[in-house]
Amino acid sequence: MKCAMLYAPGRLEIEEVEIPNIKKGEVLVKVRAALTCGTDIKTYMRGHPVLIKKYPSPFGHEFSGVISKVGTDVKGFFPGMRVVAANSAPCGQCYFCKKGYVNLCEDLRLLNGAYAKYIVVPERIVNKNLLEIPDYISFKDAALSEPLACCLNAVEQSDISSNDTVAVIGSGPIGLFLTHLYHLSGAKVIACGKGKQRLELAKILGADFTINADEIEDEIGAVKSLSNYGRGADVVVEAVGKPDIWEMSVKMARRGGLVILFGGCPSGTSFSIDTSLIHYEQITIKGIFHYTPQLFKRALDLIASGKINTKAFISGRLPLEKLEEAFSLVKQKKGVKYFIDPFYQ
Ligand SMILES: [Zn+2]
Ligand SMILES: [Zn+2]
Repeated sequence: MKCAMLYAPGRLEIEEVEIPNIKKGEVLVKVRAALTCGTDIKTYMRGHPVLIKKYPSPFGHEFSGVISKVGTDVKGFFPGMRVVAANSAPCGQCYFCKKGYVNLCEDLRLLNGAYAKYIVVPERIVNKNLLEIPDYISFKDAALSEPLACCLNAVEQSDISSNDTVAVIGSGPIGLFLTHLYHLSGAKVIACGKGKQRLELAKILGADFTINADEIEDEIGAVKSLSNYGRGADVVVEAVGKPDIWEMSVKMARRGGLVILFGGCPSGTSFSIDTSLIHYEQITIKGIFHYTPQLFKRALDLIASGKINTKAFISGRLPLEKLEEAFSLVKQKKGVKYFIDPFYQ
């Protein structure tokens, strides 16, 4: 079968390998849709401290497909079933799992290798994070469950009341998802980011206002002037992943507001903050990482409900051989996510 292997940051090969064998608790899935993700692009450019621990590594983590084989111990899943799998599953045994922070599991079982014709879903993911797709949902739409689950994590921890103003900083796939979800939860959304097309899309997805960071010098002033009579946004969400943008985002919140720092920055970086914002203005800063099995399930349910404008997120279909081209298109802000079809004809 064909599969993408990452040999080092910037070195990706499409190789011909054997279809993998499965063990007793595992499931072999024929990949029908793999989606490009901002994290994949970052990983491709600079590696990833959590997702890729050694090279060469299979690559890609947002996918759905059809079960081709199940191990002898697997219950409830059968060949021919349409499924979506998360790219991780918590252990359920460690300190954090027992405390209920399963997204912070010390022994998260990760899965890479969606950019291939077949992928083996490991036992723990089969048991905790493999879901059947309703037959009226397409493979590419179902594959959006993983990024959607991450974004739901942010939205559910924001405690939105209707008429709250939320500023979403960043107009990449995640920024657009957040814009959409905050809009659906009843907030007034200010989308602040780069790229005219992406900001147009933000409007389609529910942004009440857009701020083009390429054209405006004072983004903080612009966000503030649009929220609570100049006081700042009730909630600010950073979805860029750069320390200077983290710093800027904190200054956009109103007194007592919430700032969610969602975008992962390169390891070893730091940012500074005016102490008075924390004490006298009582701003809350929250980090959000990853998701839980419950959120993954809720994400698929939300897609199945038809409320998500899935079409807006998937910009085109390409064969596995054009994976690097897909990454470069997204980097140039041409399109949001690409549907990589390993069986493209
Ligand atoms: Zn992803
Ligand atoms: Zn754990």
